[in-house]
Formats: sequence, structure tokens, C-alpha cells
Amino acid sequence: PSPPSVHPARAVVDLGAIEHNVRTLRAAAPTAEVMAVVKSDAYGHGLLPVARATLAGGATWLGVAQLAEALELRAGLDAARPPGEPRPRILTWLFAPGAPLALALDADLDLSASAPWAVAEIAAAARATGRRARVHLKVDTGMGRGGARPEAFGELLDAALRARAEGTVDVAGIWSHLACADEPDRPVTAQQTEVFAAALAQAEAAGVRPEVRHLAASSGTLLHPGTHFDLVRPGIAVYGLTPAPQVAGSAELGLRPAMRLEARLTVVKAAPAGTPLSYGHTATTTADTVLGVVPLGYGDGIPRAASNLGPVAVAGRRYHVAGRVCMDQVVLDLGPESAGVRVGDVAVLFGDGSDGAPTADDWAVAVGTINYEIVTRLGARVPRVHV
Ligand code: PLP
Repeated sequence: PSPPSVHPARAVVDLGAIEHNVRTLRAAAPTAEVMAVVKSDAYGHGLLPVARATLAGGATWLGVAQLAEALELRAGLDAARPPGEPRPRILTWLFAPGAPLALALDADLDLSASAPWAVAEIAAAARATGRRARVHLKVDTGMGRGGARPEAFGELLDAALRARAEGTVDVAGIWSHLACADEPDRPVTAQQTEVFAAALAQAEAAGVRPEVRHLAASSGTLLHPGTHFDLVRPGIAVYGLTPAPQVAGSAELGLRPAMRLEARLTVVKAAPAGTPLSYGHTATTTADTVLGVVPLGYGDGIPRAASNLGPVAVAGRRYHVAGRVCMDQVVLDLGPESAGVRVGDVAVLFGDGSDGAPTADDWAVAVGTINYEIVTRLGARVPRVHV
């Protein structure tokens, strides 16, 4: 039984599952180090406890998108670091011109650069702080997003070589990102891997031998061994969710979903047949029934697109959201028997599937999105309880 809480809902995050998943990923890529990707509050799971669990599971690097996330991560980890324990490497890859990169160097972060301006700004921060920066040169091998396009990679290399010559920058990494690795039948991944290998050869010819070459995220790690290089960067699989549900589910991949989203029913009441439900009356009871109200809504990140669709389990029985998702609540039609459900009983929106409750994958299918979005968009109002 849970202690009394001011919060009617919570996301229980199993840190043992996170640790297990990192071990599974290490086994899948035995020749590579693991960078656990913990951006966006560890995909909604809670940055610091999750980061520590990934390190316990054997990750040696952490990856976040934004500089602010990286600074928060470094400060949080340092605050509780036992004396003598090495600092994990932290890579961050999104910043705009003029960002305070001196803070990044003071925090001992690795920085990505996709264009010469970024190398120049990193070098300037290195001069200002008297530190040597570690840069990961990003090549756009076919994602069409960040990174220097192959024909512009030479300019990026030249900028890094100039900064290296003046003693401000070391090229710690060369890296890229795969666009279609969750669809193993497409030739894109092999093509991107070739473009990446060519960029590595170009760097080598210019005298640049990075410490780590990295290309694979979760689906590369689990489905494409040829993309592992020195380091893999899994995100979604760290949380126990499959990156490619059409190829294999979590269990088949040896992953354990870490998050369970649950809430205690705030209302259980009888209602006659023909009772319209929630805003817009998009659902109506078809028989004399019992209604249950779950205190989670789009203000908590539950997609409004889950209206009349989102699956919810109460006492081991499956229901779905009846009527529209509101800001703070959804309604369940528990049926004429109501299965003995009482106010205060726990409704599970998603979990690891072991108890017959829905999974984040079930929600993704119901709403027409991906499991990544289901967990990551969970709102700050829902407390994360790490167990
Ligand atoms: N690497 C980069 C650059 C990313 O942007 C992401 C996330 O989108 C990841 C790795 C992790 O991807 P995934 O969650 O598919 O493992």
C-alpha cells in the first residue's frame, strides 16, 4: 500500500529494469561502449535517478540534446559522486550561436559540432577558459537533420584541424545518426553506414583519429551490428521499450519496460443507460452501469487523441477511456457489474504488460503515435517514484 499522497497519480519507474536494459544493450553490442541517452528528462522517466541506474548497468557515457540538460546532469551527478569514482562522459549536441559554451567546458562536457561556426565558438570558449575542448564532429549521412553534409565535411574537418593546431580543441568523436534503422528491410542503413565509413576515412587521411566513432541508437544497437563502431547511443531501449514494434516487442528483445503510470480512482458511481459522458458527449452509456473517474488528463500529457480509445486496466480488467480526455481527468465505463471496483482503487494506464495491463506500445497504437511520445510527453505534474 502506498503512503497517503497529495498526488492522485504517479509514474513508478523501476530502476532495476533500467539497469537490466543497459546490460542487455551492452550484450547486444559487446565491442562498443554504451552512451545512455537521457535527454528530455530521461524520456520522461526522471533524469538523475535514471542516469545513475544506467551507470550502474555499465553505461560509460551519457547523452543529452540540450546544453541546459547537460549542465543539470553534470551538477546533479557530481553532487552525489563518491570520492574517487570517475566522472562519466557527457555529450550534448544542440546549441545555438552565442550559447555560453564556457559553462560546458567548465562542466567537462563533450560538445558536438555540425559546422565550422560551432568549432570556432567552442575554440573561443576554450581560449576564454584555458581548457581544451572535446568535440564530436557530426556528419549528416542521410538523416537530413544535424551534421555536415558529406560534401561539406572537409570544411568541418579543416576547422577542427585549425583549432587543434592552436591547442584549443581535440576531436574526441566523429558521429552520425540513422534515419530508418527501425525498418530493417530498407537499404538506407547500409547506405548511411557507407557514407559514415567514407567520412571516417576522410578524417583519417587528414590525420584525425577520434577516440570514439558512433552511429547507432537503439534500433542500430539491437538490429544492425554493422553500425556499432566504438560506441552505441541507445535511448528508448534503455527504458525497456522497443524501438521497432513491428519487428520485435520489448520481451523478444530482452527489455523490461521501466515505467508504470497509475492513478487512484477519485469517483466511482452508478449511472443509468443513456448517460452522456464528458465534454461534447462523444460517448453515452449503453446500459445501467458504473462510472470510474481517473485523475489524469491532457494536463498530465495524456494525449487528447486518446478520447474514446486509450486503454486502462482496473483490478486486472481492461477498459478504455469513455468520452473525451479532459485536462485533469478521464472517465471509464466500468460496466454493469463494475467488477467490485471501489473509489480509491488503482487504475493502470500502462506498465510492463506482465499484469495484463496495457503497455506504452498499446497506447501508441491506440493514439496513432510511437511509444517514445507516450512516455516522454508525460507531464511534470505527475510525480516520478523511483523504486
Ligand atoms: N542519438 C541521437 C542523436 C538522438 O537524437 C537520439 C534520440 O532521438 C538517440 C541517439 C537515441 O535514439 P533511440 O531512442 O531511438 O535509441
